[in-house]
Parts: sequence; structure tokens; C-alpha cells
Amino acid sequence: MKKRVFSAMRPTGPLHLGHMAGALSNFVKLQQDEQYDCFYSLADWHALMSNYAESAETGEYCYTALLDWLAVGLDPEKSPIFVQSHVPQHAELALALGMITPLGWLYRNPTYKEQIDNIKNKDLSTYAFLGYPVLMAADILLYRASLVPVGEDQSAHLELSRETVRRFNNFFGEGLLVEPQPLFTATPKVPGIDGRKMSKSYGNALQISESAESMWQKLRGMVTDPARIKRTDPGNPDICPVWDLHKVFNPDDEEKKEIAEGCRTAGIGCVDCKKRLNAHIQEMMAPVRERRARYEGNRKLLDDILTDGARRAEAVARETMGSIYPAMGLLVNPAR
Ligand code: SF4
Repeated sequence: MKKRVFSAMRPTGPLHLGHMAGALSNFVKLQQDEQYDCFYSLADWHALMSNYAESAETGEYCYTALLDWLAVGLDPEKSPIFVQSHVPQHAELALALGMITPLGWLYRNPTYKEQIDNIKNKDLSTYAFLGYPVLMAADILLYRASLVPVGEDQSAHLELSRETVRRFNNFFGEGLLVEPQPLFTATPKVPGIDGRKMSKSYGNALQISESAESMWQKLRGMVTDPARIKRTDPGNPDICPVWDLHKVFNPDDEEKKEIAEGCRTAGIGCVDCKKRLNAHIQEMMAPVRERRARYEGNRKLLDDILTDGARRAEAVARETMGSIYPAMGLLVNPAR
């Protein structure tokens, strides 16, 4: 039996090289590993939770993210790729789980508290935002996924899903839902062009869909070690975000050694260092751009991929809900 893996991303705009080096490269690796059976969802309900006041682009962003996923090498034949709202059982199971989720669990959720404190330009004091871990649990549990790829810092979320399973099964029957385990995945540090973490909201990202020229213009203006004012000033790569990008995107260890040494001795200038980085990034992006061109502009093909993904996902979701309704004492709809 293959182990089932569930992963999702919120479609909130174009994805960037930080996503590519982190979550997306893990998506591709897991998909290629014969021991896993992966389900990949574009979590549009989750996107609405924080962007409900500006939701008009959500559907379009599903296409944007799908294109980025296909461009980096996700294969829709191998794993269903689908939009969360196209499988209505996500919302149904979230409602069912909401019946047994104590409010205290949600108020104690550290991400909820952190986001309410830090995001001041949106009103997040909504029923849905408080309850987003319930929908997140439903996403995973619907597919009886045994593994969920998470970074070390996200394990609290998964713990809430696991507690939900225990409480739900305790009420309605052991074995009804499966406790998911974390599959810890490495996410490298990828800074944006201003040195902060690469993020769409900071406006510092190199997007997967960006042209080679546009990427180079951004890299050229990227911040470096601030002490290197003149070409003859020695630098310190350990405090330079360009060096952090070399560590992720430059596969040539000999060249990296040479650059680090050249930086410390002023043997290499920052423009040359950035040119070398750019060459590696463009080499990596060439097949990504080639794959993207195959799908771009072909809405019919993208719709077919999403329709097929939702059909395969729903077949599993319907089975799960088919055992949950009677276990909860609900009358099963004979027409479904
Ligand atoms: Fe950064 Fe490279 Fe300049 Fe050193 S040479 S400061 S690593 S950009």
C-alpha cells in the first residue's frame, strides 16, 4: 500500500523562487517517489479567509498557480491536482468537524493570535478565519492522508488535526478518520532582493513566471554586504543575501568556494558575483519556461487538468463522507 500524502497552497498570486526551492520542489520529489500517492490542492477557500474583501481574482490565481506548478514539473497524470472548492466534501467535512472542535483550541492556535496581532490592514476577526484549522484538518482527513509535508515550524497545525481525529473518533467510532503524521521537509532560506525573506507581500520576489531579463534587472540591484562600498573593499558573504541565493541555486561547489574566498579578499566584484548567480538561475529556469510555454494560453487544457483532478479527488472524498454521515447519525441521502 502506498502512503497517501496531501498538500495544498493558497492561490493568492504568482509564485516565486522561494516557493520553487521549498514547497514545490518537495511536491515534485514526493510525486516521483513510488512509495507515495499524492493529492495536490489549490486551496481557494483558504485564500478567501484572509482575502475575502478582495476576492475577485481568486479564480484567476488558481490558473496562475496551476501554471507555476506545471512549469516546475508537477505531473497531473501522476497525482490529482484540483481546486479545493471543486470538491464540495471539503466544506462538508469542515462543518462536521466544527461540531466537535472546542473553541478554546482555536483561540489558542499560535498562528491565529500572531496573524490577528500583526495583520492590521485586513479585518480577520471572522468566524471563518478563527476556524481555518478546522478546514485545514478537513482537507487532510478527507483523503485519509497518512502524511503531510510540513516545515518544523508548522507542526502545531498538524497537531490540531491529530487532536481533532482523536476527539472525532472518540465520539463517532474508532478508525473513522486517520491521524496524519508530519513528513518534515527542508525549506532552504531564500531571501528576496531586499535581503528579507522572499515574499509576494514584501514586493521583493523573483517570480517563476518572470522573464530572464526582468530577473537579471532585479538581481543586479540586489542588496549585498553593506560594508562593500567600493570594488576594492573586502566583503563578508555570510551577511550577504546574494550569497544565500548562491547557496540554494548554485550547484557548483568549487565555484562557490572561489566566490566566497574572492568576496573576502575583494578578488571578485559584486556585479560579477551576481552575473554568475544569474547564469545558474537562468539555466535552472530554462526547462521551467519551456514547460510553461506548453500550457500557457491553453485554458482548455488547464480546465481539463482541474476537472480530472477534482473527479479523482472527489471519488476518494465521497467514500470518506459516506462512512462519516451514518457514523454521526445523519440520514444518508439515497440519491448520492
Ligand atoms: Fe555579496 Fe557576492 Fe558581493 Fe560578496 S561578492 S558581497 S557575496 S554580492
